[in-house]
Amino acid sequence: MKLTLKFLLLLVVLMMAGQLSAAEIKVVASIPDLGVMATRIGGDRIDLKVLASGREDLHGVPARPSFIPKLHKADLLLTLGLDAEHSWLPALAAEARNPRIMEDREGWIEACEGAEFLDVPGVISRAEGEQHAEGNPHINVGPQNGRLMAENIAYALMDFDPDGADFYEENLAIYTAELDAVVADLKDRGGLLAGQKVISYHADISYLAQFYGMEVIGTLEPKPGIEPTARHLAELAREAKAQGVKLIIFNQAQPAKLPGKFAKKVGARSVMMGNMVGAVSDVKTWQQLQQYNLEKLLEGMAP
Ligand SMILES: [Zn+2]
Repeated sequence: MKLTLKFLLLLVVLMMAGQLSAAEIKVVASIPDLGVMATRIGGDRIDLKVLASGREDLHGVPARPSFIPKLHKADLLLTLGLDAEHSWLPALAAEARNPRIMEDREGWIEACEGAEFLDVPGVISRAEGEQHAEGNPHINVGPQNGRLMAENIAYALMDFDPDGADFYEENLAIYTAELDAVVADLKDRGGLLAGQKVISYHADISYLAQFYGMEVIGTLEPKPGIEPTARHLAELAREAKAQGVKLIIFNQAQPAKLPGKFAKKVGARSVMMGNMVGAVSDVKTWQQLQQYNLEKLLEGMAP
């Protein structure tokens, strides 16, 4: 009889433990890059929802009604930061009536925190419709930033769920070791990109260019988020020819026609890179995004 009671008690304890582990942390990621990293670090302890599809413009993700209940229940909202999601996410987070994850609150996490920011303007002029007022937010495009992004996500999980700290730390160590190996390989294979002059459609390749030592001569957009004008393109074309620009780089959310035409005019090649995971169907992990982008750049440089 006593044994049976003990057994029953044990069962109850086990069931409670099971329930506890089923009470997952609700994590919402603005873009797939943050989602795949959170999955690797958080495993079964998190319930993940990702907002942007990866094929969209990350600055202008169309608000879907399904976003609101996800944000309403979220414990943590993972964002790229530096106002990357400025035009769509803060308003949705406010609308979701979940003060925890509103911009600048404890549940609003910025993966860019601590990165060496590029393109920090001397004068902030958002009045002109300019994005990237505090520095270039496309840190996820640079292979050098993956480890930091993963660490920031891991720290956010550890802060919110200290019981899982060892689990997150272990997963982080495994994941960042993988990232380090991939980044070293990218550096090796991308050697011939060093010193090459390139132009991008939008200002989203600064960290990528820094990593491979490419020189960005200009962007087809006169300013981030401002449509190219004929006058700006004519000036940029003269500059591109004078400097021997080899590649015109655009992203998954942009029309291929304009960069294609521009490339032809200046004797360069246009290549499409992804500026987030999911940009093309084969790119399902952050490592694959980096490998895909390097392949596209090398194809563009091939004789
Ligand atoms: Zn941008």
